[in-house]
Amino acid sequence: MDLKCTTCGVNLIGQDDFVKFECPQCGETTIIRCNRCKKLSTKFKCEKCEFEGP
Ligand SMILES: [Zn+2]
Ligand SMILES: [Zn+2]
Repeated sequence: MDLKCTTCGVNLIGQDDFVKFECPQCGETTIIRCNRCKKLSTKFKCEKCEFEGP
């Protein structure tokens, strides 16, 4: 399984300091954010519907 931060692409395998949720708009993709991106409130973008959110 691919476990990478959606925003910065950092590899999160073996780490537990991240959040994972489904796209709030289409629900078809999984958004993964590392702790750093979460703190910085970096924008994420859904690959499928191009929804952007903080
Ligand atoms: Zn990140
Ligand atoms: Zn989406």
